[in-house]
Amino acid sequence: MKYNLALLIFCIFTISCKNNHKKTNEELTISEKIISLKDTLDFGDFKVYNVYKTQAITYRKLKKETDSIKIANQIINDLLEPYPVIFKNCFSFSKLDFVSWNNKYINNDSIINKRIEFITKINLDSIIELNYKSVSELSGHKPTGAWYAYFFGYPDMCDMCGCDLNAMQLNLAYPELSKEYFQYLFPHELNHNIYDLTNGNDPDNKTVLWDIINEGFATYFSKKHSDLPITKAFTPYKNGDYNWCLKNEKKIFEKAKPILFSTNGSDFDDLGTSDRNTFIENSPGKLGYFIGYRIIEEYVKKNGEDSWKDVYNLPVRKLLEESGYEKYIKELK
Ligand SMILES: [Zn+2]
Repeated sequence: MKYNLALLIFCIFTISCKNNHKKTNEELTISEKIISLKDTLDFGDFKVYNVYKTQAITYRKLKKETDSIKIANQIINDLLEPYPVIFKNCFSFSKLDFVSWNNKYINNDSIINKRIEFITKINLDSIIELNYKSVSELSGHKPTGAWYAYFFGYPDMCDMCGCDLNAMQLNLAYPELSKEYFQYLFPHELNHNIYDLTNGNDPDNKTVLWDIINEGFATYFSKKHSDLPITKAFTPYKNGDYNWCLKNEKKIFEKAKPILFSTNGSDFDDLGTSDRNTFIENSPGKLGYFIGYRIIEEYVKKNGEDSWKDVYNLPVRKLLEESGYEKYIKELK
């Protein structure tokens, strides 16, 4: 009897252990991996919509479908209609365009499967969560707004872009994405989500200078947050690009000075692009980021190590004045 009881306990223990065995990521099939993804990450005032999960499910559902009307309707109902903020109000996709770029992925889902493997392997949700926490802690502010994470039909176009803090797309089809890349990207973007709110009411919020400071600050913050080398903080800079900017600092600022208070949005284009040779011949891109970054560096030199946090609430005109940057440039040879 004693022996039988022990055997019974052993059996129950073995069965319950077996039932509790949770498959590791490697053991899951691709469909199980997709189903295991969360639909939304909810941090209160900040949300991340994992649209890529719905994309992956919808594409798999439609893989064997031959009726093009059915395919189009399903894409519109499952993907376009539920996310009007990003797809309609921000990117204004026509139904035709939207169906067409999603359709490409149905027949060629190898990139989607590879990315799902990557996303589950690195546990993207937890990386975003950790960044949300560490960014909130370091900045003293909670990011607000919404990101829409999905496979964009034009993979190379941008890693993260959008319209405002409530409508940002994280393009998970972007070729360069890696765990290291997120160390630069997430703090940079979360800082935008903070700054848009803390300094969005600056009377100069429509000026080129405001854009310059917003980008320079995101760069400054991500360098500090993830302890990045300067080239990584200015991704996609190559070695030597930042030094080129330092050598040409006077030339860069003097060319930008007349448009600093322009409220014509397109005046920032050549300063904001990552493309080389735009604002100045033979230059790297992101020269606007460089100017903003240097203004903040000069401000911190004058006001102490922790004074970078002032940037969240300091009007950009005042920041420029108090940084002494114009005087610094004037004295440069
Ligand atoms: Zn940025």
